[in-house]
Amino acid sequence: GEPKVTYNRVMLKISGEALMGDQGFGLHPPTVQRIAQEVKSVRDLGVEICMVIGGGNIFRGLAGSAQGMERTTADYMGMLATVMNALAMQSALESIGVFTRVISAIPMDQVCEPYIRRRAVRHLEKKRVCIFAAGTGNPYFTTDTAATLRANEMACQAIFKGTKVDGVYDKDPKKFADAKRYDKVSYDEVLQKHLGVMDASAIALARDNNLPIIVFSLDEPGGFKGILAGQGTYTQVH
Ligand code: UDP
Repeated sequence: GEPKVTYNRVMLKISGEALMGDQGFGLHPPTVQRIAQEVKSVRDLGVEICMVIGGGNIFRGLAGSAQGMERTTADYMGMLATVMNALAMQSALESIGVFTRVISAIPMDQVCEPYIRRRAVRHLEKKRVCIFAAGTGNPYFTTDTAATLRANEMACQAIFKGTKVDGVYDKDPKKFADAKRYDKVSYDEVLQKHLGVMDASAIALARDNNLPIIVFSLDEPGGFKGILAGQGTYTQVH
């Protein structure tokens, strides 16, 4: 039957690359639509949903600075890329009847709302999907840290990180056939072994606030809804 979901409010973090489908760059609208459908199916259960989408499908600060661009400028470009992805997701969600708000850490009032914590909480209570854009608003951070920060501020019960792999492995499963997936792993082990879940500042921020991170594949057959019900394969960082 219908999977039983016990969460009331969650953060869904996806990388920008998840939106590019099989293309090497940018946005693949059918892929954005598919993820929007997954979000809708969870919203329809009454779960309050926060989202953070990365910008790596368009621009990454580190890549820009490696090519000689000033780092902070490159990071602001990366943050702007996340706004484009957030707008694409907003459009896809609203086209299937899901009310949303794009809320930016960098004010750009003609495009989306500025981040005001109490206002964002109110949107969630009204069952609007809140898409938090422009990362933390600061260079030298990532959208993983932004997702952890907003998840804490919004009192989410967990962060669900949708990736291309179905959890956290002891080594890269695409390179090593004997890579082992963890069912559960502690924040400290992730930090000590440099397991590629999220960057260290995001992991530390989750650890210090006891915020569980659930790493799952966006291609999981049961979808995001199944993962929320504890089905399928995933890793819980706790
Ligand atoms: N970024 C930033 N501060 C933040 C979040 C993001 O400077 O708080 C910049 C940074 O340059 C980063 C880019 O935005 O490379 C895109 O974000 P990220 O790399 O986290 O995207 P993802 O890998 O999730 O697609």
